[in-house]
Amino acid sequence: MVKSLYGIDEEINAIWVFLEQDGSALAGVSLELLARGGELAAQLGWRLVGFLPCRRAAGWVEEAFAHGADEVLLAEDPLLEHFTVEAYTQVAYEALWEHKPSIFLLGATPNGRDLAGRLAVRLRTGLNADCTALRVNPAGVLVSEVSGFGGGVLALIEMAHHRPQMATVRPGVFPPGEPDFNRQGTVVRLPVNLTVESVHTRIVERVVGQGVDLTQSPVLVVGGRGVGDNFKMLYELAELLGGEVGATRPPVDEGYIERARQIGQTGVICRPDLAIVCGVSGAFHFTVGIQEAGTVIAINTDPEAPIFAAADYGIVGDVHEVVPALIRELQVTD
Ligand SMILES: Cc1cc2nc3c(=O)[nH]c(=O)nc-3n(C[C@H](O)[C@H](O)[C@H](O)COP(=O)(O)OP(=O)(O)OC[C@H]3O[C@@H](n4cnc5c(N)ncnc54)[C@H](O)[C@@H]3O)c2cc1C
Repeated sequence: MVKSLYGIDEEINAIWVFLEQDGSALAGVSLELLARGGELAAQLGWRLVGFLPCRRAAGWVEEAFAHGADEVLLAEDPLLEHFTVEAYTQVAYEALWEHKPSIFLLGATPNGRDLAGRLAVRLRTGLNADCTALRVNPAGVLVSEVSGFGGGVLALIEMAHHRPQMATVRPGVFPPGEPDFNRQGTVVRLPVNLTVESVHTRIVERVVGQGVDLTQSPVLVVGGRGVGDNFKMLYELAELLGGEVGATRPPVDEGYIERARQIGQTGVICRPDLAIVCGVSGAFHFTVGIQEAGTVIAINTDPEAPIFAAADYGIVGDVHEVVPALIRELQVTD
């Protein structure tokens, strides 16, 4: 077995979280990982450390403390303004090699995934990708829950010898917790040894999409194949409830709605207060995306549909009748 660059005999008792930023805000998933990482660190009596590469930290250090970090390792450099895998890998690699934390958690965002894969190879350690739960045992071993074979198998993975124990987690899996802006912590500035020549990627233009973020919506009206192409009524209902529209995979594949709105294993994991799920059968690949919702109301013509087992309230009926009736009712009471 190939040895990692450092092992359990050298590891430092700390949980690190990659603090991802887009130039204006910390990623929601970073705050979620601080919340869960904080719980795990408290169980073990370890430090929770935020690793923050950026051009200039604009209030993000304080935000990290407020969300549970005891310490922030700050790497500031103009070459770290936007994510490039070479620059970020180099800085993260040097920091990890120097400080040797036991655990390193990253969001399973496009950038987090990119960075985690590169680092795992450089450090010759393992990477548990797209974890759905994280625990620790008393010896400080991270137990990562990962589903495989389309959700048919749930694996609990431990890294016995390799360090750091790395895991990525998708946005929405953990709640972000309540910030406490009275919390304080330590800032450690990291040396940055980047040169323009050492970074081969040049950002020519940066285009920020206007994509919807379903993980932030308190109300979701979700359409499945049973809705057909009639998503218009779902948008109407969602607007009346102050929410957003999501979908299962079939309407996305049919092109009735954009992919950013797909909920589930290969879509977004959400935890709204209320989800109204219309014309959805309730396959595991979908329900995993709303299993943390506060209240689920399902509408389906088939009383035997599995979605009713995942719902708090069920309406056996045709969505093309029930949804317009709900809209009429809400318009009257509005
Ligand atoms: C590896 C893998 C990953 C996947 N990832 C995802 C994912 O992320 N998200 C996802 O959603 N799926 C995913 N899938 C697909 C998933 O397995 C299901 O096929 C999908 O969720 C089914 O979508 P559905 O419920 O809309 O359609 P169906 O299963 O076809 O169900 C339609 C339901 O609508 C009801 N219905 C029909 N007409 C009406 C009507 N007029 N009024 C009320 N009810 C009506 C029917 O009774 C039925 O229950 C994945 C599959 C695989 C293999």
